[in-house]
Amino acid sequence: MRTFKQYITGLFGGIKSLLSGLSVTWKELWIKKVTQQYPENRDTLVISDRFRAELVMSHDENNEHACTACGICEMNCPNGTIQVISKMTETEDGKKKKELDRYVYDLGMCTFCNLCVITCPSSAIKFTNHFENATFTRNKLVQQLNHEGSKLRAKKKEPISAQPVPKEKE
Ligand code: SF4
Ligand code: SF4
Repeated sequence: MRTFKQYITGLFGGIKSLLSGLSVTWKELWIKKVTQQYPENRDTLVISDRFRAELVMSHDENNEHACTACGICEMNCPNGTIQVISKMTETEDGKKKKELDRYVYDLGMCTFCNLCVITCPSSAIKFTNHFENATFTRNKLVQQLNHEGSKLRAKKKEPISAQPVPKEKE
């Protein structure tokens, strides 16, 4: 059975604890807000340029890329995210030449370690900070990075600076 004194002590203890909690709420009320109201703020949202969200292959205005289908990125990828599928073609002087057929990238597998980008000898691939890649099915995350009809650029050109053509999302 609680005594009257214990009752009063408990009551004041509760009030003190309540005021202590409310003082934190009161202070937070006047502090500058940092929470981002996404997606409402999509137009003004700033994502760091270095944020790795999606691997892309750069193509220039002639639909040419820099990938020689050497397969180094595929070998260095720790979890089989990349598949470089090549084909043999014949040049005008009758020589056989290996060319990129399909560059397949599984965004759902990628750990964004960047090993593929830093080991590519041709700087053919890079990461963009485009992060809105949610889909309802995982197989939609498997993408072909070389554009339809694209080909290897002629050697000794300037590095490709053109942005990849944005892909349509679901
Ligand atoms: S992206 Fe680079 S490393 Fe990968 S196959 Fe093409 S040229 Fe080789
Ligand atoms: S970032 Fe890493 S995990 Fe992703 S494709 Fe490149 S090497 Fe593979």
